[in-house]
Amino acid sequence: MTTLYRNLIDGKMIETAATMEVVNPANEQVIGLVPACGKDELDQAVAAARRAFKTWSRTPIDERRAAIMAISGAIKENADELYRLLTSEQGKPHEQAKGEIFGAAGMSAAQSTLSLEEVVNEDSDQRLSRTRRVPVGVVGGIVPWNFPVMMAIQKIVPAMLSGCTIVLKPSPFTPLTTLRIAELIADKVPAGVVNIITGEDSLGPMITEHPDIDKITFTGSTATGKKIMEGASADLKRITLELGGNDASIVMPDADPKKVAEQLFWASFSNAGQICVAAKRVYIHEDIYDELSQAIANYAKTVVVGDGSQQGTGVGPIQNKKQYDRVLELIQDAKDNGYKFLTGGDADPSGTGYYVPITILDNPPEDARIVAEEQFGPVMPLMKFSTESEVIERANNSEYGLAGAVWTADTDKGVEIAEQLETGTVWVNEYLHLSPFSPFGGHKQSGFGAEYGIDGLKEFTYPQVITVKRDAEVA
Ligand code: NAD
Repeated sequence: MTTLYRNLIDGKMIETAATMEVVNPANEQVIGLVPACGKDELDQAVAAARRAFKTWSRTPIDERRAAIMAISGAIKENADELYRLLTSEQGKPHEQAKGEIFGAAGMSAAQSTLSLEEVVNEDSDQRLSRTRRVPVGVVGGIVPWNFPVMMAIQKIVPAMLSGCTIVLKPSPFTPLTTLRIAELIADKVPAGVVNIITGEDSLGPMITEHPDIDKITFTGSTATGKKIMEGASADLKRITLELGGNDASIVMPDADPKKVAEQLFWASFSNAGQICVAAKRVYIHEDIYDELSQAIANYAKTVVVGDGSQQGTGVGPIQNKKQYDRVLELIQDAKDNGYKFLTGGDADPSGTGYYVPITILDNPPEDARIVAEEQFGPVMPLMKFSTESEVIERANNSEYGLAGAVWTADTDKGVEIAEQLETGTVWVNEYLHLSPFSPFGGHKQSGFGAEYGIDGLKEFTYPQVITVKRDAEVA
């Protein structure tokens, strides 16, 4: 029997008459049913969040921290069940699912230690002026399908810590683990502070346009981000947008191909390439291009593509059919244009499960669709470059500006190049490291605002300046 999952509204787990199916991308079997909420359920969730805001916004920060720690603890204690469920709905191999579950628990705990201190602007005989941060109110959180748990947590935790309440909508493709967490935390968080509701994509604009929601925090595609910005403009909601990327990695001639091949591989292929910051364009200096591209292709042959619940799988299926078709379309376009493949490129769409073989392209042109567009799949175009200035220009030649990386034995040179890249994050000699204490956000069309760290927390607050005239004559 298919499990029926419930939503969390006002501290209670609720069902709806209408439901939606959730499919395991490894075998296309229906593995769960979730509520298909519409305007009525959204109104109930927003009203509950509004009621809870009155008390939660005045609850001492230590109590708010304790509630966040209870969420972190519930995730950790149930990690075994949660990571298996996550693999079954998202597709990522068990080890990577474990990383996401423990990462979400760890990020929550670490972020709960942040605080927004008051700033004294003036302390003179005439006046005392200070800036405090006040919570914006009710937050609408909208989450994608690639890291459903991590993305949900990185919206819930800073909202709670800042004194806001939240109505969160998981992706219709991957709501199950988040709803199981909702059940686990229902009695650990005051009613209405965290509400989690599921629905089709059409529920998204209802959240964006809801008159009693004060802020939207969104992670997803740039196309949807633009619609959200438009929808939120009606009543000038605050917005944080974490959007797409076409992240460039630059490998300098002094990098050792034997040492970087495997690291570069996983920079591209973790989570089957479905990471906003995955290495989606890899520029290799011409002096080491042949050796490094061969080393990456050789390593790729040792990695198993398959069902993430099976031991030994390194790369799971694409999460959903729409994205699967898109990745196949990009690969077909590369074939039609006669680009060279070092490996992969031969998916079998008639099989069961959304599997795409590890696909590495050998020096396709800069304007190839598979280079110029965000692939969001297990695809890695390797390109040759000759000079530093040329590669910086090519890396920056994108409407996106999310992340990038430089690989070199000379870290000073690495930093010099990193500072010229037009992205919110640049790694030198590592990849995918995100800290709960550093802001993460996109430049250009990769985003608006930031998550994590003090900058991320500030996005859930307004500054309020209180000025007291000390030498006033009023009485
Ligand atoms: P998506 O934009 O299709 O959907 C994201 C969420 O928005 C889902 O919950 C969806 O139901 C909802 N939604 C859809 N239409 C909406 C609308 N008109 N108004 C409001 N909400 C709407 O994105 P996706 O396909 O789920 O995720 C993949 C994309 O997310 C990629 O482009 C990837 O780069 C990006 N992403 C970015 C980050 C980041 O931190 N920058 C992280 C992960 C993924």
